[in-house]
Amino acid sequence: MKIVFLGTGGSVPTKDRNHISIALIYEGEIILLDCGEGTQRQMIKAKLSMMKVSKIFISHFHGDHFLGLFGLIQSMSFFGRNKPLYIFGPKGIDKIVEIARELSIYEINFDIIPVEIYDGFSLEEKSYRIICKKVDHSIETYAIIFEEKKGRGIDKEKIKSLGIKPGPWLRELKEGKTIVYNGKIITPDMVLGEEKKGIRVVYTSDTRPTNVIANYIKDSILIHDATFDDSLRLEAYQKYHSTAKQAAEIARRFNARHLFLIHISSRYKDVSYLEDEAKKIFENTTAARDLMVVEIVKDRINIGSMQD
Ligand SMILES: [Zn+2]
Ligand SMILES: [Zn+2]
Repeated sequence: MKIVFLGTGGSVPTKDRNHISIALIYEGEIILLDCGEGTQRQMIKAKLSMMKVSKIFISHFHGDHFLGLFGLIQSMSFFGRNKPLYIFGPKGIDKIVEIARELSIYEINFDIIPVEIYDGFSLEEKSYRIICKKVDHSIETYAIIFEEKKGRGIDKEKIKSLGIKPGPWLRELKEGKTIVYNGKIITPDMVLGEEKKGIRVVYTSDTRPTNVIANYIKDSILIHDATFDDSLRLEAYQKYHSTAKQAAEIARRFNARHLFLIHISSRYKDVSYLEDEAKKIFENTTAARDLMVVEIVKDRINIGSMQD
């Protein structure tokens, strides 16, 4: 799995930071989390094919998180896309999709399917699920959580106590099939253990520090709003954002695996100050940069850049 930070800035872009978008690359599929203005150009710089984008999640309708949709859709059409595109977003997403269709002077030759998200929304795919949790921002906003499904393994103790010997039937049970073994009906639940842990990525979007995502943070790659430094804690509260220190406190309290700071205000030219502030609380912290690539390989996280 790879995470590519396409845009990491706050409400206003800067020379170095585009508006927000994060690409999750998993089994050849690209899932975009938010699509700020300029996302398509960032994809070109990152050498990511916009044709491979299958799903786009929009966390909320502040311009810095969705205005890139229109240009991206137009380019996809221009390049002859024909496979459908699913766009997930809060109530009103169907209207945004309608506007995208009407705006274009080109005909859009592929299906765009709007899907409304809500608190507790869950998209179940074969090898992953995506969950949306409502966070604490000035308008309806959702954290977006990606969870890899690893399936359940055989519990050795359970098969021992049932007297089941190793054989092809174990694979059938793992696949969820009920079998008959020595005249007895064996259901998967009788022999399978807990679900194995897969990769989890939690993107908070814009929010004050919140506990609603607490259950998902353990061992996750946490991408947290860090608009301000902690001397501006009051301003962060008033504007429904977080400080770098608050992001780190959440990461520490709920045992994240790694913290990436995002949505960094245009006032910070040098982000090492924010990063240091967070690192004092939670060592495994990195201030995300545009075109930064995070590769997750088993227990390792490699951080590089697509800009070379
Ligand atoms: Zn924002
Ligand atoms: Zn916002």
